[in-house]
Amino acid sequence: MPGFELFGEAERREVNDVLNSGVLMRYGFESQRLGHWKAKAMESELCGQLGVKHAQLLSSGTAAVTSALAVAGIGAGDEVIVPSFTFVASFEAVLMTGAAPVLVDVDDTLTMSPKAVMNAITSNTKAIMPVHMCGSMADLDALKSICHSHGLFLIEDACQAIGGKYKGLSLGTIGDMGCFSFDAVKTVTCGEGGAVVTNNDRFAELLDQYSDHGHDHLGSNRGTDDHPIIGYNFRISELNAAVGLAQTKRLPEFLKLQKEHYTILRSALTGISGLTFRRVPEGGEESCAFLNFFLPTVEVAREVIELFSEQAINDCFHYIDNNWHYINHWNHLKNGLSANGLNDSQKKGLARLSCQDFSQSNQWIGRNISCLIKVGWTKSEVEQRAATMATILRKVLT
Ligand SMILES: *Cc1c(COP(=O)(O)O)cnc(C)c1O
Repeated sequence: MPGFELFGEAERREVNDVLNSGVLMRYGFESQRLGHWKAKAMESELCGQLGVKHAQLLSSGTAAVTSALAVAGIGAGDEVIVPSFTFVASFEAVLMTGAAPVLVDVDDTLTMSPKAVMNAITSNTKAIMPVHMCGSMADLDALKSICHSHGLFLIEDACQAIGGKYKGLSLGTIGDMGCFSFDAVKTVTCGEGGAVVTNNDRFAELLDQYSDHGHDHLGSNRGTDDHPIIGYNFRISELNAAVGLAQTKRLPEFLKLQKEHYTILRSALTGISGLTFRRVPEGGEESCAFLNFFLPTVEVAREVIELFSEQAINDCFHYIDNNWHYINHWNHLKNGLSANGLNDSQKKGLARLSCQDFSQSNQWIGRNISCLIKVGWTKSEVEQRAATMATILRKVLT
């Protein structure tokens, strides 16, 4: 998955444009910037590649999720449904808006279970935020229909699945808004960066204002801009955007390599008895950022991970024991250990997490192994890795 593996001349050239003009800010300075608008250029590149009307580039994926929730009007007293298996950024973003995160089980797609979502809806629910974890998607038709019948927003966290598709549409462009991260370990990197994409003109306008102190960006003088709403600073710098612009142009190349490497690994593991692959919802096309499979028990998965690492297969994850991606180790969240104060509805929501039953999630996450697909591998490296993995799995499973 990581774009940091392939980094070179194209990225350097874009960054040098910015260094040569000396304009590091994405807005203003028109007479000095020598025609370079890296953030704007990356936004239009994203729109073109993803097939979406608007993209707002931001300082991080966390900023993207926070801004998307905020411009949907979500705040104190509201609840946002997120999956138990995600990156901590999901609940962090919900908390930053003042709303309370409600965590629900995942199923064999490794994304939120529509049934669990139905059971979690209350009169305070305002949005459902599926997270397309490890390169594949939630059952978006089921979630869309729940949102439709309950009047909820659907906000996709597609940070780990850029390039994946669902029924012909790019992930991130299907809900009301979709969020991407361009941090250092994502498919495309800016160093730090993120984006919200949407086909909704009003959300696009609000995102532009919210992420830059409320500026309406209507005039040519920032000092005399009006401020229709209270905003914050979630801007990206031109330096980061320059790197991301070069990387975004290379996205098709990254996706092609991911798919090739994924296919080699998957073929080698196909047919091993006791091993099943993650379910991809009908009509879905993975981004191939990861290859995910299930083993019969959590113990077998633990054993396999250990044998993998003895053979230097180190890019596979067993998330049940992970500090950053699964509810089990989020004691800071369950105990509400926040530096800033939390409101009563947030405190109540978090208190509920400690006694909530996540046994369904444990079943899937405990038996899952998730293998990162690197784009920097040579073909013979992938083939060798595939053979080693298959040998280990066959041995353990017979
Ligand atoms: C990386 C990631 C984020 C946050 O992105 P940052 O750019 O690191 O803030 C959010 N959600 C998911 C699922 C991620 O993987």
